Amino acid sequence: MPKPRLILVLGDQLSADLSALRAADPARDLVVMAEVTGEGTSVPHHPQKIALILSAMRHFAQDLRAAGWQVAYSRLDDPGNGQTLAAELLRRAAEAGAEALICTHPGEWRVLADLQALPLAVTVLPDDRFLCSPGDFAAWAEGRKELRMEWFYRDMRRKTGLLMEGDKPAGGQWNLDAENRKRAERSLLRRAPLRFAPDAVTEEVLTLVEARFAHFGRLRPFGWPVTRAQAVQALDDFVTHRLPSFGAEQDAMLEGEPWLSHSLLSAALNIGLLRPLELCRAAEDAWRAGRVPLNAAEGFIRQIIGWREFVRGIWALKGPAYLEANALGHGRALPAAYWGGETRMACLRAAVGQTEALAYAHHIQRLMVTGNFALLAGVDPAAAHQWYLSVYIDAFEWVEAPNTLGMSQWADGGVVGSKPYVSSGAYIDRMSDHCRGCGYKVAEKVGEAACPFNLLYWHFLDRHRARFARNPRMAQMYRTWDRMPADHRARVMNGAETVLARLDRGDVV
Ligand SMILES: Cc1cc2nc3c(=O)[nH]c(=O)nc-3n(C[C@H](O)[C@H](O)[C@H](O)COP(=O)(O)OP(=O)(O)OC[C@H]3O[C@@H](n4cnc5c(N)ncnc54)[C@H](O)[C@@H]3O)c2cc1C
Ligand code: SF4
Repeated sequence: MPKPRLILVLGDQLSADLSALRAADPARDLVVMAEVTGEGTSVPHHPQKIALILSAMRHFAQDLRAAGWQVAYSRLDDPGNGQTLAAELLRRAAEAGAEALICTHPGEWRVLADLQALPLAVTVLPDDRFLCSPGDFAAWAEGRKELRMEWFYRDMRRKTGLLMEGDKPAGGQWNLDAENRKRAERSLLRRAPLRFAPDAVTEEVLTLVEARFAHFGRLRPFGWPVTRAQAVQALDDFVTHRLPSFGAEQDAMLEGEPWLSHSLLSAALNIGLLRPLELCRAAEDAWRAGRVPLNAAEGFIRQIIGWREFVRGIWALKGPAYLEANALGHGRALPAAYWGGETRMACLRAAVGQTEALAYAHHIQRLMVTGNFALLAGVDPAAAHQWYLSVYIDAFEWVEAPNTLGMSQWADGGVVGSKPYVSSGAYIDRMSDHCRGCGYKVAEKVGEAACPFNLLYWHFLDRHRARFARNPRMAQMYRTWDRMPADHRARVMNGAETVLARLDRGDVV
């Protein structure tokens, strides 16, 4: 019998058809799964995120054993646990007499480097759970002046055949986003997402996490799907009850309504319990059966085969150096409000408050509230990246970094987005009901009560004039700014400087 090989399954690789498992022989090889402090504390992950991964790993290991695999599973509190992936792999290799490791490409560059440094024969297989391989993405990107999601998305529609009628998009248009900008109505009845009561395995994990990780974020109540069966139920529930209104109110925010019509499926998808194509097919089937409007199905499918695959392609294309990007030279510390500190800003309080309670905020809260404020305030993009990677249930480097450093902080100098996502308070007022309960006044442009977004927006444009004034999508804003009376502009700049000075002193903003 040849020597056994180690087959590594990471916490976000919980898919029965993972490439590493497909390459293995259950009669010969040993699957290694390890809960290690080193991964739980690489950044201060939200306790619910740690619990999700540990519980889903334990359930997945049970399934693997039932399917005939030998699994060496290291629990966090095992006395012999070396508490890093490398230490556990070497321990298992010594125990089993293994000299080779097969793994699927991890979603974090740091982990890849650690694995490649092991004194074992390491084979890294592609992660083919994505619909576009790094090679295909690189071929698509080759020779293009700009990499824009919209063009990539159209190719992905053609490639997958999703929402296609022959070679034309169903309904005649590729992108129905113009129909998806509605303010949410409080009166609209949306069924809250399915939450799952912890079973004995999850309860044990919750107790362990409670004892070991005193990170930002509340652990309970915990209701995330931790098995494939639960994730499939969550998908069905979303398609039936929230997908119909997903499109229209995709960008909306309502005080005290964290979920609205969102799917909450990103975590299950990112750890491998669901596959991207099955989500898209479910949405397409619902549209073809007349159960959801086209703008909802198209909007949802675009997020998955468009944005999700696009940012993964960027992450793979740009490599580890991307994580250091800081095109705008920003260096301010992340305000304490992001870690639950006091703030008078109702929109920021709502986004951070629900993040702390639920490890979840939807896209527009991440992009246009926390992201927008960090960018306008000139926060160090590395600090923003660490924060987003820490606090969200679905945060893994390959998807979080391009969204934060690229889309949200424009730290990559325009690789992901042609212009920065910045706005004054007017956008938040239009898309939410936060402003009416705020310590600031969104209608005030200057003075003590002025919304900080209103002040910092112009300060941002002014301080980055050399870079953005000639951007055709921003030139109009510079013309507007330049037409304002000089004394008004001076008051705006002074007001913004006051806000920034307060942030630097750690005063409440
Ligand atoms: C600063 C910032 C950081 C982000 N960090 C992450 C992250 O760490 N992990 C993550 O999965 N998403 C991230 N996103 C994208 C997006 O906000 C989340 O995917 C979404 O909010 C997850 O909630 P949901 O499942 O309810 O999504 P829905 O609104 O229901 O959307 C459906 C699905 O589309 C996919 N999707 C939507 N937008 C994106 C996007 N921009 N990039 C990739 N996939 C997308 C997700 O898989 C999501 O489940 C980030 C966005 C921003 C602006
Ligand atoms: S007034 Fe400004 S800070 Fe307050 S909720 Fe509205 S946008 Fe946010």
